[in-house]
Amino acid sequence: MTMETLVPFAEAMERYEPVIGLETHVELGTRTKMFCACTTTFGAEPNSQVCPVCLGLPGSLPVVNRTAIEYTIRIGLALNCQIASWCRFARKNYFYPDMPKNFQISQYDEPLCTDGYLDVDVDDRTIRVGIERVHLEEDTGKSLHVGGATGRIHGAEYSLVDYNRAGIPLVEIVTKPITGTGADAPVAARLYVTELRDLLRSLHVSDVRMEEGSLRCDVNTSLAPHGASQWGTRTETKNVNSLRSVERAVAFEIERQAAVLDAGGRVIQETRHFHEDTSTTTSGRSKEEAQDYRYFPEPDLVPVAPPAAWVEQIRAALPEAPAARRARLMVDWNLSSLDMDAIVNAGALDLVEATVAAGASPADARKWWLGELSRHAHDTGTELAALAITPAQVARIAALVAAGTLNDRLARDVIDAVLAGEGDPDEIVEARGLAVVSDDTALLAAIDEAIAANPAVVAKIRDGKTAAAGVLVGAVMKATRGKADAARVRELILERLS
Ligand SMILES: [Zn+2]
Repeated sequence: MTMETLVPFAEAMERYEPVIGLETHVELGTRTKMFCACTTTFGAEPNSQVCPVCLGLPGSLPVVNRTAIEYTIRIGLALNCQIASWCRFARKNYFYPDMPKNFQISQYDEPLCTDGYLDVDVDDRTIRVGIERVHLEEDTGKSLHVGGATGRIHGAEYSLVDYNRAGIPLVEIVTKPITGTGADAPVAARLYVTELRDLLRSLHVSDVRMEEGSLRCDVNTSLAPHGASQWGTRTETKNVNSLRSVERAVAFEIERQAAVLDAGGRVIQETRHFHEDTSTTTSGRSKEEAQDYRYFPEPDLVPVAPPAAWVEQIRAALPEAPAARRARLMVDWNLSSLDMDAIVNAGALDLVEATVAAGASPADARKWWLGELSRHAHDTGTELAALAITPAQVARIAALVAAGTLNDRLARDVIDAVLAGEGDPDEIVEARGLAVVSDDTALLAAIDEAIAANPAVVAKIRDGKTAAAGVLVGAVMKATRGKADAARVRELILERLS
């Protein structure tokens, strides 16, 4: 592998203007495959979810999965697209070992959804990303190259193919060229995929797990000198498998293409592979043109003609879009966009909303999920939503703090106990005797002990240096094992010594 010459990003931006585009493949979460009744469970024994149709055996005939059509229309409508009243599938002919039929059933010049958009907030501005098309196709199988150092076919001793994935419905969402982003191009690409992922998740059409490949991105990048009348030649970086990598892939291609153009060279239109470990891309095959695929209408399938009434029914049932929901909750909860970003980035939005619905104040819900509980999730390497505590339990703990039954330190003990499976907050407070000691008589005994043990501090307080009372408060908190209300203890100490 030759080392690519790069131009530092900021310097590249002084001379060139990027245009980006994204093609996102989403595996639909249908129970069965696109054209047969095979199940689609992820991680099943290789080649255990196959049949004559998805293995492409002679004489087998495909039948369209109605749910996949419905999910695709749902996606198209959520992306503000036009829905075709009549369209056909097409055969895309190419030979590849993980594709048993040696053609893929896809859509070509008659996609189901066209001409939409998705708004993406980048810093303080909103970029309207045009959606060229949303079409439906079938996924390929998966090759496993064994014996080589890299897991790639070069150097492998042999290859295995798993057809479980072959025929799973796959939606391809293609943007129009995104212009005018300037130096924000890498970030805009990442935020577009983030917003799209959140939207798809809200539509319940896919589990959108990039790490399991149910959401995959190809990133197109081109550069042209500022003020040029034409866009540059684009490269297509394949299978970029994390949000961070989307940003890095665009940034790398900008730095690489700027160096090619600076040297008077020509950017080659090609497919490139992104390498997660080095955040670089390397040249793959030169890009096929559409004519290389010999597309023609799929003769084994009838056209798809969704009735307008059905489309309207799907439209009426669309859930609130994530962006609209965030905007609504920011107002309801009196949050800045930074606060909201923190909640969303922590994966806590659903949890905070459910905790507020269970009676907690938005501030308390946010505090516990983003503070103590995020720490637990981080320490144990789990997701926040997977923690063994419910929003209702968090709301109850917040209520116990608000009522003075718990202070923050005791509340953390209760959270630990809930996570350890000791029961509901009230049971734990009762069983462990964790409630704040609010009985003044009990506190006064501890206060008198602290006063007797710290004559020098007492002298200072009597001299008017009331800040010194902190030492006595600390002693009382220690004596009550944190179960006293510190503010009340301080009041009682000052009364005692006045
Ligand atoms: Zn099958």
